[in-house]
Amino acid sequence: MKVTILHGNIVSAPELGKLDITENGYLVAEDGIIVGVYETLPEKYAGCEVEDYGDKLVFQTFSDMHLHAPQYAMLGMGMDMPLIDWLNTYTFPTEAHFADTEMARKIYKQLAHELIANGTTRVVMFSSLHRESTLILMEELEKAGVTGYVGKVNMDRNGGENYQETTEESMEETIKWLEQCNFEHIKPIITPRFTPTCTNELMAFLGKLAKEKNLPIQSHLSENTGELAWVAELHPECKQYWETYDIYDLWNDKTVMAHCVWSDERERKAIKDAGVWIAHCGDSNLNLISGYMPVREMLNEGLRVTLGSDIAGGDRLSMFAVTASTIRGSKARRIMDNWQSEFLSVPEGYYLGTSAAAEFFGEKPGFAAGNPLHAIVLTDDKLPAVRELTVQERFERCIYRRQPDAVQVVWSAGRKVYTAE
Ligand SMILES: [Zn+2]
Repeated sequence: MKVTILHGNIVSAPELGKLDITENGYLVAEDGIIVGVYETLPEKYAGCEVEDYGDKLVFQTFSDMHLHAPQYAMLGMGMDMPLIDWLNTYTFPTEAHFADTEMARKIYKQLAHELIANGTTRVVMFSSLHRESTLILMEELEKAGVTGYVGKVNMDRNGGENYQETTEESMEETIKWLEQCNFEHIKPIITPRFTPTCTNELMAFLGKLAKEKNLPIQSHLSENTGELAWVAELHPECKQYWETYDIYDLWNDKTVMAHCVWSDERERKAIKDAGVWIAHCGDSNLNLISGYMPVREMLNEGLRVTLGSDIAGGDRLSMFAVTASTIRGSKARRIMDNWQSEFLSVPEGYYLGTSAAAEFFGEKPGFAAGNPLHAIVLTDDKLPAVRELTVQERFERCIYRRQPDAVQVVWSAGRKVYTAE
């Protein structure tokens, strides 16, 4: 049995708004699975080697529940258009380039490393239409130490001239891709891009496939009002957007829906009843001028809210930055809500970026026993302070501000996958 012991100031979020801080503590894992967090090292581990991080902070790693890998190549560009124009002008032409597997390899390798270097060890990610490049993406994530789900995108309409499949191609390539997925930590997820880009025939096929193979599903929901009107036009038989997924068996407790900005009470009830996961992507929603999700209201209603960077609608890959901007966004929401909704606290933001997605990955919130070891070791020894800070103060500052070499070590699924140079 391999014992891993991390020594430092350990900070985790076992529930929304609650922070567990163990100063000068020990986070112990056996064969990569967490056994516990201790103030003093239990006797039975007395002879074991300790990874001593001294006064440094030990955080949970982040889960990025919605991002588009090929759009990494256009990160920070094309921020002057609303959703549908943005897709047609920037996004689809960029994604079309990923037919080139050599280019895909280079870009995806860089993406995988940047994710790990920022302490993101779990993802729910869109690839492009291309089967081969999707497999390359999965391979590069696996090699870098990222875990989670990647989907080959399906779209057989409204992709423009150069970026869509025939219905038959989409089905055949998806089956072939699933047969070729053989990675330990990166698993496939069924990925209809969104209702406007998938024919009914394709949606029905994907729903059936997800059911037969017991696969999770990811897509987009109620992001922008123009999109809502388009979906209503395409599906006069459905009262609301979510029903266009539900009628094809793409709506259940293994479904992740990005955005949900415009989901009204009825749609939110459907989300709750089905146990659908929400990936809240505030940066993207502001950049594309889509709107802003009422995050507090949704949490109060008991919905499963997680966070996504949604690059490249979102302009930041670091989930530290996404967490901070989500908190900031909740304050904007408070102003818009006539000061009626409470903003998110820093511990709440941290929970949403880390623990909120635990159950989706078959884990428990926080550094719970039984979870695979995912941890970031952070240093802040070069940041100024006029007095000695508490661990909680240092934790809060780390969400908003980090020195250039702040991320020292990253553990993912029990493996040390990153060490600062
Ligand atoms: Zn998206």
